[in-house]
Amino acid sequence: MKIKTKLSIGLGFLFLVIILIGSVAVIYIHRIASESKEILKDNYESVQLSKTMMKQIDMLETDTAAFYLQMSGSLHRQEKNITEPGEKEYTGELRAAFDDMKSSGRKAVQLKKMKRMLYEISDLNMQAILKKNDRVQANAGQVLLYIGLIGSLCFVIVFTFIINFPGYIANPIKKLTESIRQISEKHYDQRLEITSKDEFGDLAKAFNAMAERLEYYENSNVALLLFEKQRIEAIINNMNDAIIGLDENGMVLFANIRAAQLIGMQESGMLGKYAGNLAINNSLMQLLLSDIDAGSQPLKLLIDAKENYFSRERISVQSEGKPIGEVILLKNVTHFREQDLAKTNFIATISHELKTPIASIKLSTKLLEDTRVGGLNDEQQQLVHTIKEDSERLLKLTAEVLNMAQVETGKIQLNFQRVKAETVLRYAIDSLRFQADQKQLTIHTEQQENLPEINADLEKTVWVLVNLLGNAIRYSPENERILLSVNREGGEVRFSVRDFGPGIERQYQDKLFNQFFRVPGSNKAGTGLGLAIAKEFIVAQKGHIGLTSTVGEGSTFFFQLPVAWS
Ligand code: ADP
Repeated sequence: MKIKTKLSIGLGFLFLVIILIGSVAVIYIHRIASESKEILKDNYESVQLSKTMMKQIDMLETDTAAFYLQMSGSLHRQEKNITEPGEKEYTGELRAAFDDMKSSGRKAVQLKKMKRMLYEISDLNMQAILKKNDRVQANAGQVLLYIGLIGSLCFVIVFTFIINFPGYIANPIKKLTESIRQISEKHYDQRLEITSKDEFGDLAKAFNAMAERLEYYENSNVALLLFEKQRIEAIINNMNDAIIGLDENGMVLFANIRAAQLIGMQESGMLGKYAGNLAINNSLMQLLLSDIDAGSQPLKLLIDAKENYFSRERISVQSEGKPIGEVILLKNVTHFREQDLAKTNFIATISHELKTPIASIKLSTKLLEDTRVGGLNDEQQQLVHTIKEDSERLLKLTAEVLNMAQVETGKIQLNFQRVKAETVLRYAIDSLRFQADQKQLTIHTEQQENLPEINADLEKTVWVLVNLLGNAIRYSPENERILLSVNREGGEVRFSVRDFGPGIERQYQDKLFNQFFRVPGSNKAGTGLGLAIAKEFIVAQKGHIGLTSTVGEGSTFFFQLPVAWS
């Protein structure tokens, strides 16, 4: 039944009850009122008349004419107001006694009889009044009982209604509110258990249909997402590169098979773990998480007894400008490295093979310049001179390329010995004195006293200093000074070359030691390899190299090598 119908029935019932109570009350009150009226009208009047006639009897002695007149009137009224059984007989006897007294004049006997009759009439009416009063009382009690009963019944019904009705309306609404809240929290399996056939039942049916639909959509989306997730996982797992995903707190979100294999852990053992904890007993993990830039040097790792090279990349993942995690990528660069090595070996072979013919060209030009072989005219001499210069440049270039190839293939042969700083200085200055003189440059040397010997490869160290000094000569304007100084710095000896050339902009200073880097706009011939090789030579000898430079004021290139301990 619908709530609307139920409410109409309930209210209709209450209305009927009110009408019923009202009608019962009206009927009984009316009845009580009419009975009271009857008592007053009939019996009370008879009692009053009896009293009046008693008083009139007393007037007989004093005023006989008035007695007869008034008594006759009163008797007449009494005869018209006979209501009780027996009253008529008493009134008749009263009339007879009165008439007899009037006609015969026997006063004493008749008066006595009249008084007795008046007393009987009065008594009869008094009895009737009492009887009727009892009846009215009984009726009033009955009315009270009926109204009380109906009232109690109504009270029980209304009380039950008051107790149950708010719950009847509010409970389903509460259930519905709770279910809507659950749905808003994505608990789409929520259903309303209302089976009544009213509006709430309809509402529950509509709600359940909606929830079912939402659940269906959700499940189909979840299935789709799961499928996509599996696909991405499959792609990541089939990658030859190792990949590890971390959330913003450093917890491992995913790691592919390759990553687990390299790290030496089970993939399941890594998921959900704090990466920092995994790194405690795992050096590769430590390396992957460290901030050290291992970008330029690939990591060498053994896979199936074969050397593999990986470059590490850390990609910070952001969403709406906020960091939400990080992806660590270990790119397998073995293939590139193998190709690079092949290229380097090829270059090394070529440059090595080139050295001999170039040297012989150089020798041939020397022979041509020799007048004993035959005279050359000026033009021919100029040509021979150019060939000689070019072959020298070519020889330097092939030597540099060869050096670089050796460095790259890790084939630098170091011959460590105790070396005096002075020896290094002398060799370097001697080999470049001619070039310095050509530009009218003066090389000032400053050497700290009692310098200790260094532990170094003499040839490579001289090569580095020659390279730095050569650059200083090339980039200095004519008639300038170059300061060459050597001093002790803690456990190392420091060689510095100061020039007063153009200087190098700050932005390029960090890149100078990279292979093939040349400051943009430089008009001097060069390969961009000299400083890169110098760095490799110095680092290989456990030293370090650097520079300070100010544009317009010149540059100071330096390197430091460890002192040879006795
Ligand atoms: P190369 O001189 O053969 O180009 P280097 O590796 O020796 O290669 O030098 C790299 C670059 O550094 C040079 O091209 C030049 O631009 C810059 N450079 C090196 N030394 C100096 C210097 N003393 N003053 C100014 N620039 C220099």
